Amino acid sequence: MSTLFLRTLREDPADAEVASHRLLVRAGYVRRVAPGVYSWLPLGYRVLRRVEAIVREEMERMGAQEVHFPALVPREIYETSGRWTDYGDLLFRLKDRKGADYLLAPTHEELFTLLVKGEYSSYKDYPVTLFQIQTKYRDEARPRAGILRGREFVMKDSYSFDLDDEGLAKSYADHRLAYQRMFERLGLDYRIVFAVSGAMGGSASEEFLAPTPSGEDSFVQCENCDYAANTEAVEIAVPAPVDAAEHPLMQVLDTPDTPTIATLVDHLNGLDLGRTFTGADTLKNLVLKTLAPGSTHWELLVVGVPGDRDVDLKRLQGQLEPAEVAQAEPADLAAQPRLVKGYIGPQILKELGIRYLVDPLVVPGSAWVTGANAPGRHAAAVVRGRDFEPDGEIGAVEIRDGDLCARCGGRLSIARGIEIGHIFQLGRKYATAFGLDALGPDAKPIHITMGSYGVGVSRAVAALAEQHSDELGLVWPSSVAPADVHLVAAGKDDQLAAAEKLATEFAAAGVSVLFDDRAGVSVGVKFKDAELIGVPVIVVVGRGLVDGLVEVRNRASGEREDVALDAVVAQVARQITI
Ligand code: ATP
Ligand code: MG
Repeated sequence: MSTLFLRTLREDPADAEVASHRLLVRAGYVRRVAPGVYSWLPLGYRVLRRVEAIVREEMERMGAQEVHFPALVPREIYETSGRWTDYGDLLFRLKDRKGADYLLAPTHEELFTLLVKGEYSSYKDYPVTLFQIQTKYRDEARPRAGILRGREFVMKDSYSFDLDDEGLAKSYADHRLAYQRMFERLGLDYRIVFAVSGAMGGSASEEFLAPTPSGEDSFVQCENCDYAANTEAVEIAVPAPVDAAEHPLMQVLDTPDTPTIATLVDHLNGLDLGRTFTGADTLKNLVLKTLAPGSTHWELLVVGVPGDRDVDLKRLQGQLEPAEVAQAEPADLAAQPRLVKGYIGPQILKELGIRYLVDPLVVPGSAWVTGANAPGRHAAAVVRGRDFEPDGEIGAVEIRDGDLCARCGGRLSIARGIEIGHIFQLGRKYATAFGLDALGPDAKPIHITMGSYGVGVSRAVAALAEQHSDELGLVWPSSVAPADVHLVAAGKDDQLAAAEKLATEFAAAGVSVLFDDRAGVSVGVKFKDAELIGVPVIVVVGRGLVDGLVEVRNRASGEREDVALDAVVAQVARQITI
C-alpha cells in the first residue's frame, strides 16, 4: 500500500445517493469522469476483472464461444433492424470526418446476426452460441448511482442461433442455468422474475434481479407460490367476467362539481340510489398520448382503470414500447372538445376514433360509474361490452402490496432490485431483417431463431457492493475481492519486518495479499482503510507479536482470533480454498 495507486476518502462524494456509489468512490475503486462515465482504479479494476472471469468461465462452460465486436458501428446496419430510430435518444450517434453516421453500440444483435450469416450457410452448422464481454454505450436519461447505471458500461452479451423453437428453448434454458451458476459464484443474492407477461403472448423473457432497497426496478413476488415478475410484466388476479344483461340500463346523473373520484363518491352517496359507492365502483379514464417510433404525430390514448387505483405510467411504457407515452397536455385536449376534463367516459371514444384500453380489472360485463362527457354529469351502470367496447386490455394499475397472484391467488408483495441479467427469446426478428437462413436438408431455407442474453458486468460490481457492505465499508465475497488477505503491519520495526515476511509466505502459498506497509500512518487509520476496502480476511501484526501471535479478523462477521505466527498462512490458505 505504500506504493499502491490508491487514495481513500474520508468524506462521501457529494453526488452519491446509494451505498455502492459512496463506498466505491471512498475506497478508491472508481473515479468519475462525466455523468455515467467512470475510470477504474487498480483495486476496482481487479474486482471488475474477477467478475468478468467468472462470467466468462460460466459462458464457456455452457458451450458459448467468445468473440469481440467493435463498439463503433456504421448507421446502415442499425437502419436495417430499425433500431437507428427505435432506440431514440438512448443511442450515442456520431459522424466521421466524411460526414458518415456512426453509433456507439448499446447492444450488438445486428453484428452477431450478420457475422453468423457471413460464416454459416447449412443447417448442419447450427446451433451456435456466441458471446462477448464488451463496453456498451447508452445515453441514459438519468445516469445514476455511479457504475450502477452508466452511460458507458461493461456488458456480457450473448446470442443463440437455432433452427427451431425447440432449439431456442434449450439455448434459453442453458443460459438460465449458466446465469444461476455465475450469480451464485459471484455471491449475489438474486431472483428470477418474468419480464413479459403471458397475456401479451410474448416469448419467454426473464430478468435476474438483485434485491436491494436502492434498486431501480420494482418487482412483485407471491408470498405463496414462486411467481415473481417485474412490475411491467406482472399479472394480478382479476374478478370473473360478468353477464352484461344483469345490469340495469345506463343512467345519466347530474353530478355538479365532481371532477375528482372523492367528490364524485361523496355526491353519489348523498343521492338516494339504494346503495353505497366507493372509488372502486367508478371508472377513471386517463388521457395519454403515444408516439410511434419514427413518427412525429402523437396520438391520443385513453386508459381506463378502477377509480380507487393509480395508473402506473412506467408499467404502461414498458408494454407500449417502442412507442413513447406521455400524459396528454391541455393543448391535446383542446383539440378534442368532447373530452370534458373530469367527466370523461368511454361511451364516445369509438365515435371520436380515440384508442381506448382498459386494465384487466375492468372485466367484460362489469358496470361502472363514469363520466358522461358533459360538464357536471356522470353516468351509472355503464357496462363494458354493452355501453362501450375497449380496443384492448393493458395492465395499467399501479400494483399494490396485497394484490392477488394470478397463478395461485396468494398475496403479492412488492420489493426493489437491480437488474443484473436478462435472458430473452428474440425469435426471428433479426433473422428476418438480415435474411439469416440456413439451407435445410431438403434444400429449402430454414429461418433462424435467436435468443439474446445480457449480464451487466460492471453493474454487478455495484450490485455486489450494494449487497455486501456495512456502515464501515465494503465487504467483498472472497470470489471477487481485490485480494484474499489484507495484511496490516502496526508501526514498530519488528512488526513491519514480521509482516513483510508473512506477505512473502502468503504469496508463496497462492494467497493474494494487500499489504499495508505504510510508514508514518497510524494503525487506527490502517484499520479504517482495511474496513473500507473490504478484503474478507484482515491479518494484523501488532502487539501480540511479542508472544508470537497475529490477529485474524473476519471482515464480514467482525470475529477476531489470535493465531500463531507460524500457523497463520496455512490456516488462512485453508479458509480461502474452502
Ligand atoms: P435497464 O432496464 O436497467 O435500463 P435494460 O433492460 O435496458 O436495463 P438490457 O438491454 O437488458 O438492459 O441489458 C442487459 C444488462 O445490461 C442488464 O440486465 C443490466 O444488467 C446491464 N445494463 C443495462 N443498462 C446498463 C447501464 N446503463 N449501466 C450498467 N449496466 C447496464
Ligand atoms: Mg433488460
